[in-house]
This record gives sequence, structure tokens and C-alpha cells, in this order.
Amino acid sequence: MQGLMMQQPLLVASLLMHAERHHSDREIVSRRVEGDIHRYRYQDLAQRARRMANALESLGVARGERVGTLAWNGYRHMELYFAVSGSGSVLHTLNPRLHADQLVYIIEHAQDRVVFFDLTFLPLIESVAPRVTSPIFFVAMTDRAHMPSDHALGSRLLCYEDLIEGHSADFDWPLLDENSASSLCYTSGTTGNPKGVLYSHRSTLLHTYAAALPDSLNCSARDAILPVVPMFHVNAWGLPYIACMVGAKLVFPGPALDGKSLYQLIEQEQVTLSAGVPTVWQGLLSHVESVEGSFSSMRRTIIGGAPCPTAMTTAFQERHHVDVLHAWGMTELSPVGTVCSFKAHQTALPEAERYALQAKQGRSVFGIDMKIVDVAGKELPWDGCAAGDLLVRGHWVTHEYFGGDYASPLNDGWFPTGDVAKIDPDGFMQIVDRSKDVIKSGGEWISSADIENVAGLHPEVATAVCIAARHPKWDERPLLLIVKKPGSALEAQELLTFFDGRVAKWWKPEAVLFIDAVPIGATGKVLKNKLREQYGDYYMSL
Ligand code: AMP
Repeated sequence: MQGLMMQQPLLVASLLMHAERHHSDREIVSRRVEGDIHRYRYQDLAQRARRMANALESLGVARGERVGTLAWNGYRHMELYFAVSGSGSVLHTLNPRLHADQLVYIIEHAQDRVVFFDLTFLPLIESVAPRVTSPIFFVAMTDRAHMPSDHALGSRLLCYEDLIEGHSADFDWPLLDENSASSLCYTSGTTGNPKGVLYSHRSTLLHTYAAALPDSLNCSARDAILPVVPMFHVNAWGLPYIACMVGAKLVFPGPALDGKSLYQLIEQEQVTLSAGVPTVWQGLLSHVESVEGSFSSMRRTIIGGAPCPTAMTTAFQERHHVDVLHAWGMTELSPVGTVCSFKAHQTALPEAERYALQAKQGRSVFGIDMKIVDVAGKELPWDGCAAGDLLVRGHWVTHEYFGGDYASPLNDGWFPTGDVAKIDPDGFMQIVDRSKDVIKSGGEWISSADIENVAGLHPEVATAVCIAARHPKWDERPLLLIVKKPGSALEAQELLTFFDGRVAKWWKPEAVLFIDAVPIGATGKVLKNKLREQYGDYYMSL
């Protein structure tokens, strides 16, 4: 027997429709690239998103086609989140921190038809544009007065505000299939080119419901949320969607991510909840401490993307009375997987035990199941001691990368995260290592394989190995270990200069160490874990 309830597709546009109808006066505040603070309400967002949906249609963007964005967190980016996905196209958020070669690859692979960009990124777009054939137009996300007069984009350059003004706000969001694609985000793989994770309307809505819950990111209509995590990095952890669902005020930091600017915005806009990677919070904490400031409104901060050090948790909680929510997720998971919020019996634990618990990445939100397995694939117990590969499955976990030319990443229906973890009897997961060979610096990935490839091009390098070394500011930085060719007098600085122009500036390792030989395992692979044990703290002791 079938249930007799209404069947309504789960669609991204319905979040905006809800916010417009039930929270129309709630504010969205943005620090703009133009330098000023912009504020408007959900009703303005909804109206402008509809205008933009009409504009996209007039530009010839068809359903299912991809629309790229190269932009900071701001209201125009938010409008595109809904205009693009809501009208049935696919929002493709591009990461401006990538090297131009990677952006060219990603834009062409995704076949973006139009690319929207913040003015900050004009030089990047100018260098990419002649090398990409798929985008017909590039849209500068600004008004006519700020349009660049001198640029290399010719008639392919359009003005965002001209598009908004030139189109009607009458637009009926189409009733799409909830399984159709809504957005696309590329993640750096351990080998080869970046891979696209293609979210659906349904997965996005289910993720939004679950991530907003009190034991997840804990968002409500009373909150003023500051997503510092970029909108180009897994949809700012879903916060733009969550804010619409719950009717929270949104505060966007634009390009100003330094401690002083963030603190000013937090106080001025009475932010209650913020979200970002540890590196950003380090900058904020040192600024607040340098001015002997305090937080008058902020009560919670979500820290993820990299392990949250206990010193940071104590600084926030003890000195500033801001609760830390340590969370773990991945691009492939939309991204929220686990959040470290206490169970009832844990609230009364002694302080030291509570801090130890908060160092863990947390327990599954409903909708994500997880397990740990040994090398043979056998499931390991949740005893807080056994460590194994972490596998997940759920409503918002990818089962295939975009483009159809990849083997399924799944392992018997489970997604292997590349993280190595323990799980305690209460279901709290703690990451202890990583089996994927990548470096996470300031919340963004660096491919060790790419660094090794560049070093290997140098004529005096025999073997190059790049490892993730812990770093006091950036969490991790690449460290290059080199075996020179016989007779070579190669110096570290010469090799480092060799990287200029070959990789994004922030990918360049800070240091090169010359070693006699690299340890090789039984299968002929370099034993990176041995090298990490030996050299992993190199930057910590500088
Ligand atoms: P991304 O796809 O760029 O969001 O990166 C996801 C990866 O970041 C995970 O697989 C982990 O390796 C790492 N990560 C995310 N959150 C945390 C965390 N709280 N602690 C440790 N590592 C994390």
C-alpha cells in the first residue's frame, strides 16, 4: 500500500522561495570587492535571482549546461547559486587559488558556457580566456561604473548589473526532476587531473536538512551566519542553502579574510555563528588578542577542513566564550559527514575529557553511515583503538565523478575517503592519518605528485619525493626531499626557483632537503610514511 502524501521534488529553488516568503526582511550583508558594505534582504535576493535566471536564458544557457563562477563570498555569488541551479543549469564553482593551467583544464572539462567572475580575478580570466573554447561569455560581477575599460576579453565580456537591469523579475522556477544536477565542484585527486563532484537537487536538499540540525551545524532563524569558508569550496559547506532554509541573516566577508576585517564584520553585524578552516581562525584569534578584544555576539564557530587543534578550541571557549564545533567532511560528501557535538552523558564529563573529545572529528549526522576497515577490507571494531580506512555512504555521497571517464570510486557500495580513522564506542570518529597522498595547506589541496613531477624535470634531480610536513600556520606545507644525480652541486634555492611559473605560487615548497636515498617498500613504492615520520616536523622546529 502506498502512502497518501504529496509528492514534491526536492529542489534548490524551493529554498529561495521559502526564504522570500517566510523571511523576506532578513538581511544579507556583503563586503564587496568594490570596497564598501552592501546590504539587502532575502526578497531582493529572490527578485534579482529571477532576473538573472531570465538573463541566463537570454544568453542561451540551456538546462543541464554548466555556468562557472570565479568569485568570493558575496550576494552576487549567492544570486548565481539560485539563478543557475534553480533554472535547471549547473552551478560550477571554480577555485581561484588554482594555477591557470588547472582552471583551463577544469573549464574545458566541465564545458562551462558562461563564466562569472569578481573583478579581483580579471587578470586570471584574461590569461585563461584565450585558452578555453567552451565559454561564450565572461561576466564581470560588478556594475557599469566599475567595468574595466582596458581588458583583453573583447565582446566576450559582459556586465553583471547590466544583465540584472535588462531582465524581468518574472520567472517561474521550473519543476525539475529532483535527481537532476544542481552544482559541480572539482576536487584535487591524488593523481591526475582534478575530478568533478556533481551534486543533485535532491542530495543538496537532504544535505541542507541534515546539516542545519541542532547536533550538526545548529543553525536557526535567530542566527547571523558568517561563512568564511569559500563559496567555491564545496558550496561554503552548504551554508548558503541552510541560511535560506532556516531564515538566518547572512554575512559575507568578500575578499577580506584577514583577522582585522573579519573581527570588524563579526562585531558590526553581530554575527552569532561562523565557519572556516583553522588557518583563518588563527588569524582572527591573534588579531582579537592583539587588540584585547572580545566577541559581543559570536557564540559558536564551526571549524573543519583540517584538524582543529585543542589550543584553538580552548582559546575560543575559555577566553572568548565561543563554542567550537569541530566537523569533518569532503567535497565528495557535499561536504558534511561528522560533527563533534556532545551526547547527553558527555556534557558532564571533566573538562580535560571534554577537550579530548572535541579534538575528534565527531559522530555521523543522520544520512551518512561510516565504517573503518583493515587492509583486507575487514570491518574494524568501534573501540577507540583500532585504526583503519574510513569508508562512508549516504544520501549526499558521490558514486561517480563527472565526465564519465573514471572508474567508480566505490568499494562494495562504500566511498573510500582516503582518511585513516578510529571510532570510539560512542561513535565519535577521529582521523589519525591519511592514505591519500596530498597536502592540505590552509584548507586547500596541493598535489604531491605534481610537485614531484616538476622537480623531476630538473636535469640534476634523480628522485623527488614530496611529503606533507606539519606547519604552525598553514596546518601542512609541502616539503621536498631530493636525491641528486651523481656529481650534481644543485642547491636548494636553485631548485625552488625552478618552480616559479610552473605551479601556483602557494604550491611551491618552502624547503628542499637533500637525502642519499629514499626508502622503498616491498611493492616498489616509496615509503612516504617513513619519510613523514622522519621529516614531518621539519617546519615545526624552524
Ligand atoms: P575537501 O574535499 O577539500 O573538503 O577535503 C576533504 C578532506 O579534508 C578530508 O578527506 C580530510 O582529509 C580533510 N579534513 C576535512 N575536515 C577535517 C577535519 N576536521 N580534520 C582533519 N581532516 C579534515
